[in-house]
Amino acid sequence: MLLKELTQLHGVSGYEREVKNYIKNIISEKVDEVIEDAIGNLIAIKKGNGDKKKKIMLSGHMDEIGLQVIKIEDNGMIMVKSLGCSWMFTTYQSRVRFRNGIYGVVESRIRPEKLETKFTELYVDIGLSSKKEVEKYIDIGDVAVYAGEYAKLPEDYIMAKAIDDRVGCYMMMETLLQEKDPYNDIYYVFSVQEEVGCRGSEVTANRIRPDIGVAVDVTPAHDRPGDLEGSNTLGKGVAIKISDTSVICDEYLIEKMITCCKEKKIDFQKEVIYVGGTDASSINMAGNGVKVAGISVVTRYTHGPNAIVCEKDIKEAIRLLKEFINLEFDI
Ligand SMILES: [Zn+2]
Repeated sequence: MLLKELTQLHGVSGYEREVKNYIKNIISEKVDEVIEDAIGNLIAIKKGNGDKKKKIMLSGHMDEIGLQVIKIEDNGMIMVKSLGCSWMFTTYQSRVRFRNGIYGVVESRIRPEKLETKFTELYVDIGLSSKKEVEKYIDIGDVAVYAGEYAKLPEDYIMAKAIDDRVGCYMMMETLLQEKDPYNDIYYVFSVQEEVGCRGSEVTANRIRPDIGVAVDVTPAHDRPGDLEGSNTLGKGVAIKISDTSVICDEYLIEKMITCCKEKKIDFQKEVIYVGGTDASSINMAGNGVKVAGISVVTRYTHGPNAIVCEKDIKEAIRLLKEFINLEFDI
């Protein structure tokens, strides 16, 4: 199954090649043109048939949070930095996997209760006890992802690593495969390096100069006691982004989405968050400015190995995407 396979691929920010090749193989024959740019973005273009068609850029990022080796100590401890925002409480004691298939566990060189946010105290342990032995398998610059297998939970819930943002890639792929003849010109952008500052979508938006940009991504859940404040709830439908820390979405586009959901009976919720952002921010500021919106899937425990999402929310998000790319926009 597509989503299961997508979550298990190795794609730390800046090292998304495995994900890109997987997606490219499935979609290339189904679109009018495929572009791979210098920094690794994959752009799949499907021309529209509408009289008043617009250029719509959908952006879902291929990269995931990971660790990168900065030093190997004499006793075999592999010191790392985080690529993207890792949380201490999801990182410590997590199992990680390097690109060559070697597994390790994230440990601490100080008592774990003293860790707080001291990320530099973390190291990866692959079981070996000397630098010489470790260097046979691991080098400076190597990257590792969290190991978090895809698991079906009761009812229609799913748990896996890299839900952020393979679920976005999945929803865009499904839309592309199901909607063969859209009204608007659709630029399906599978972007790189979102987790380190939306770098991929920035150059892509400047290349495409779309009329409308939509980030297709996850948004953190607010329905557990340890979560931040907000209204995002699992199982309540697709989340329509209103604002986050780096973007305030276009009111006209939000209204179009909400009207569409009401007409087509698509379950939706409004998303307002005060930590985090998406590719919508960089698209918004590209060129002379672009109207942007966001279609999100509410996710518990994002940026860790055990993110949880609801399949129903994913289905509703795909339904909205399919409708949205066929709307006529008066802009
Ligand atoms: Zn994301």
